Amino acid sequence: MPLEVKPRFVVLYGSQKGQAESIAEGIAEEAEEHGLVADLCCLNQNNKYNLEKERAPVVFVVSTTGDGEPPDNALQFVKRIKKRTLSPDHYKHLLYALLALGDTNYANFCNCGKTIERRLRELGARQFYPTGYADDGVGLELVIDPWLKGLWNSIKDALTKMASDRTVQLKEDSAKEIPESSLPDVQLNLLSIADKQICEPDSKYSSSLAISDVRPPPASTVSTSAPNTQACSEGFPQVSLAASLTSSLPPLSESSLNVPALPPSYLDVSLQEADTAEQAAERLSKESRYEVPISKAVQLSKGDSVKTALLLELDISAFPSMTYHPGDSFDVFCPNVAEEVDHLLHRLGLQDQKNHHVQISVKDNTKKKGAQVPPHIPENVSLLFLLTWCLEIRSVPKKAFLRALVEHTSDSAQRRRLQELCSKQGAADYNLYVRDASLGVSELLAAFPSCSPPLSLLIELLPKLQPRPYSAASSHLRHPEKLRFVFNVVEFPACSGRPAGRRGLCTGWLFDLVSPGLVFPEKAELALPKIHVSLRPNCSFRPPSDPSLPFVMIGPGTGVAPFIGFLQQREEERKENPEAKFGETWLFFGCRYRDKDYLFREDLENFVSSGTLNHLKVCFSREDRKDEEEPPSAAQPRYVQHNLLLCCRQVTDILLRQNGYIYVCGDAKNMAKDVNETLMEMIKIELQVDQLEAMKTLAGLREQKRYLQDIWA
Ligand code: FAD
Ligand code: NAP
Repeated sequence: MPLEVKPRFVVLYGSQKGQAESIAEGIAEEAEEHGLVADLCCLNQNNKYNLEKERAPVVFVVSTTGDGEPPDNALQFVKRIKKRTLSPDHYKHLLYALLALGDTNYANFCNCGKTIERRLRELGARQFYPTGYADDGVGLELVIDPWLKGLWNSIKDALTKMASDRTVQLKEDSAKEIPESSLPDVQLNLLSIADKQICEPDSKYSSSLAISDVRPPPASTVSTSAPNTQACSEGFPQVSLAASLTSSLPPLSESSLNVPALPPSYLDVSLQEADTAEQAAERLSKESRYEVPISKAVQLSKGDSVKTALLLELDISAFPSMTYHPGDSFDVFCPNVAEEVDHLLHRLGLQDQKNHHVQISVKDNTKKKGAQVPPHIPENVSLLFLLTWCLEIRSVPKKAFLRALVEHTSDSAQRRRLQELCSKQGAADYNLYVRDASLGVSELLAAFPSCSPPLSLLIELLPKLQPRPYSAASSHLRHPEKLRFVFNVVEFPACSGRPAGRRGLCTGWLFDLVSPGLVFPEKAELALPKIHVSLRPNCSFRPPSDPSLPFVMIGPGTGVAPFIGFLQQREEERKENPEAKFGETWLFFGCRYRDKDYLFREDLENFVSSGTLNHLKVCFSREDRKDEEEPPSAAQPRYVQHNLLLCCRQVTDILLRQNGYIYVCGDAKNMAKDVNETLMEMIKIELQVDQLEAMKTLAGLREQKRYLQDIWA
């Protein structure tokens, strides 16, 4: 009897925020259902895998970060495979599949995945399944779901191919008298897989469940009646006339559902009474962050401006090592909103234990591959600290999270609706009511009152609370003891599932912190609170190292922030070195109204007066239109790109003939894309070339790091 060893494959991931990692984990977990076993590793754990000797299929799941950079934990791997000394058959033996995650709001979409794929091919590796390029800009699941669905049969085909290659090899080698016992197990097991027909066509959604099931049945669909035709349950109408977060209409309400596999639970969590009260500030400052006082807060927007823009100044004099350069950003660590934490404690039934210490360990018998206590949760923190500072409780729950919530929901109508929202058939409802509305777990629990998940589930499935980056809007040379930044307070409107609007987490928190001391115009000497920050140097978004080169800055709205730093720095350098030659500077700024949101107006006009800024081009998107019927254009500029077009000759001259630079900062979703299009048009006009040539020219500028973006969606 041959040993029942399951055929194995390898899953490698590179992940910045955990998304690629959780997809890779999902693949590894699902492997067993397909009669396979997966070795799961992070790309930086190169002592745990060896691609040079790997004879099993390899599945890569990699995200891209920043301006097309690999995630931190894939950097070394990418460097290694990029080595030009590697021979073209270095990975000849390798069969791979690759899922790349990216966001088309940014330049260099899926660049890390594309780079890895290009190098694997150049080094002789063969693809066994077409690469998936998932776009966070429109919803990762649009590509991921079908990609995962097709993956399993392809892995099995790849294993079969590898096994038959080996058989051929073995037959050839049999002349060399290799003993039969050295036949690989994988071949024997493959035969048994084929016999048992483990291949499940709809594997991603294979672990379907019926409403009352605890264990999933083998069938791949659930058929249950809908909430709007069911017996009335608390908080749910008997008949719904319109779909909403909590109720659906036919055909969805009558449809059989394919739901995702239940994510395996993997943490044991207990709460222990603590002797001493925990000091959150102490806990945070231990973690290599700077705790700095806010020395000034000024509202920059005026009157009934569409958005509220604030400038904050931090006093960094206590930390001489906190030097920064123009173009750098820094992270602000913000807590979750106290009322939301309180609501969550209440819903978990743990209000009385909020000061207890949380003890977390990995379950002995968990099926989760590579299970570990989440590294973003420090030891011995109180429950209150954990929910306030460690978990992004407002993050939009993934479908797997909704699937897990079903298990903890007692009301059958609510269970059904949660199933719908995570099902394949309910994808449009999920996007509309959960994803686009940016609902968090608190809001879901409010909408589904019979859902009572355990604390462990939240710790397992909520991501790390991320700090928010802000661009330095000052120069360290001018203000060695200060660091300024500017932001608009983000507003989320009320929607189905959120009866009242709310502010962005960090911008709302900062606004509340400083609003008692806010003055307009500038002057407040109230004692302002301290916040925790850490620096995030940006080595490419810097003024040209050769100051004699000209440069163009494009930054509408708060996107102007880093350019205030650039210009302050330039002004100081001009004072220090009046004889030096400085290149021309251009700034394209845009806002809605001259009198409401023209941020840094005085500073910009002063830069012009001092000769630091040679050309300031400002447009106002909601005024100054001569003919409202006419679309905006260079003749009637509304946005920065229209002014750019008006200066086509000078800007292209700087870029194409004077070796100059162009910088874009601000909104990635619309502005940066439109500016990119406009630059392409300008190159076409100036060089009299077609679209393809213009694209190549722009790509060349990017490569030379003379076209730089610092943008955010
Ligand atoms: P969150 O609570 O995190 O909410 C914002 C999120 O919600 C975004 O993902 C957004 O897409 C989404 N969203 C926004 N409005 C809605 C809505 N109505 N409905 C549904 N979803 C919505 N910002 C600045 O203002 N100034 C800066 O100088 C600056 N510099 C940055 C530098 C870098 C390198 C990066 C990456 C970002 C920068 N940002 C800057 C953005 C900043 O980090 C925050 O993302 C922003 O301030 C919002 O944070 P928040 O916590 O208040 O909002
Ligand atoms: P904003 O106030 O919303 O808009 C500024 C101006 O841009 C308005 O006049 C607006 O006009 C106009 N605009 C709208 N669509 C445009 C388009 N397609 N092309 C050109 N201009 C357009 O901007 P904001 O909120 O300050 O900043 C935008 C984003 O940038 C924010 O999300 C912020 O977080 C981010 N940001 C990122 C960085 C960074 O990555 N380093 C730094 C600073 C800010 P209308 O409204 O009239 O259409």
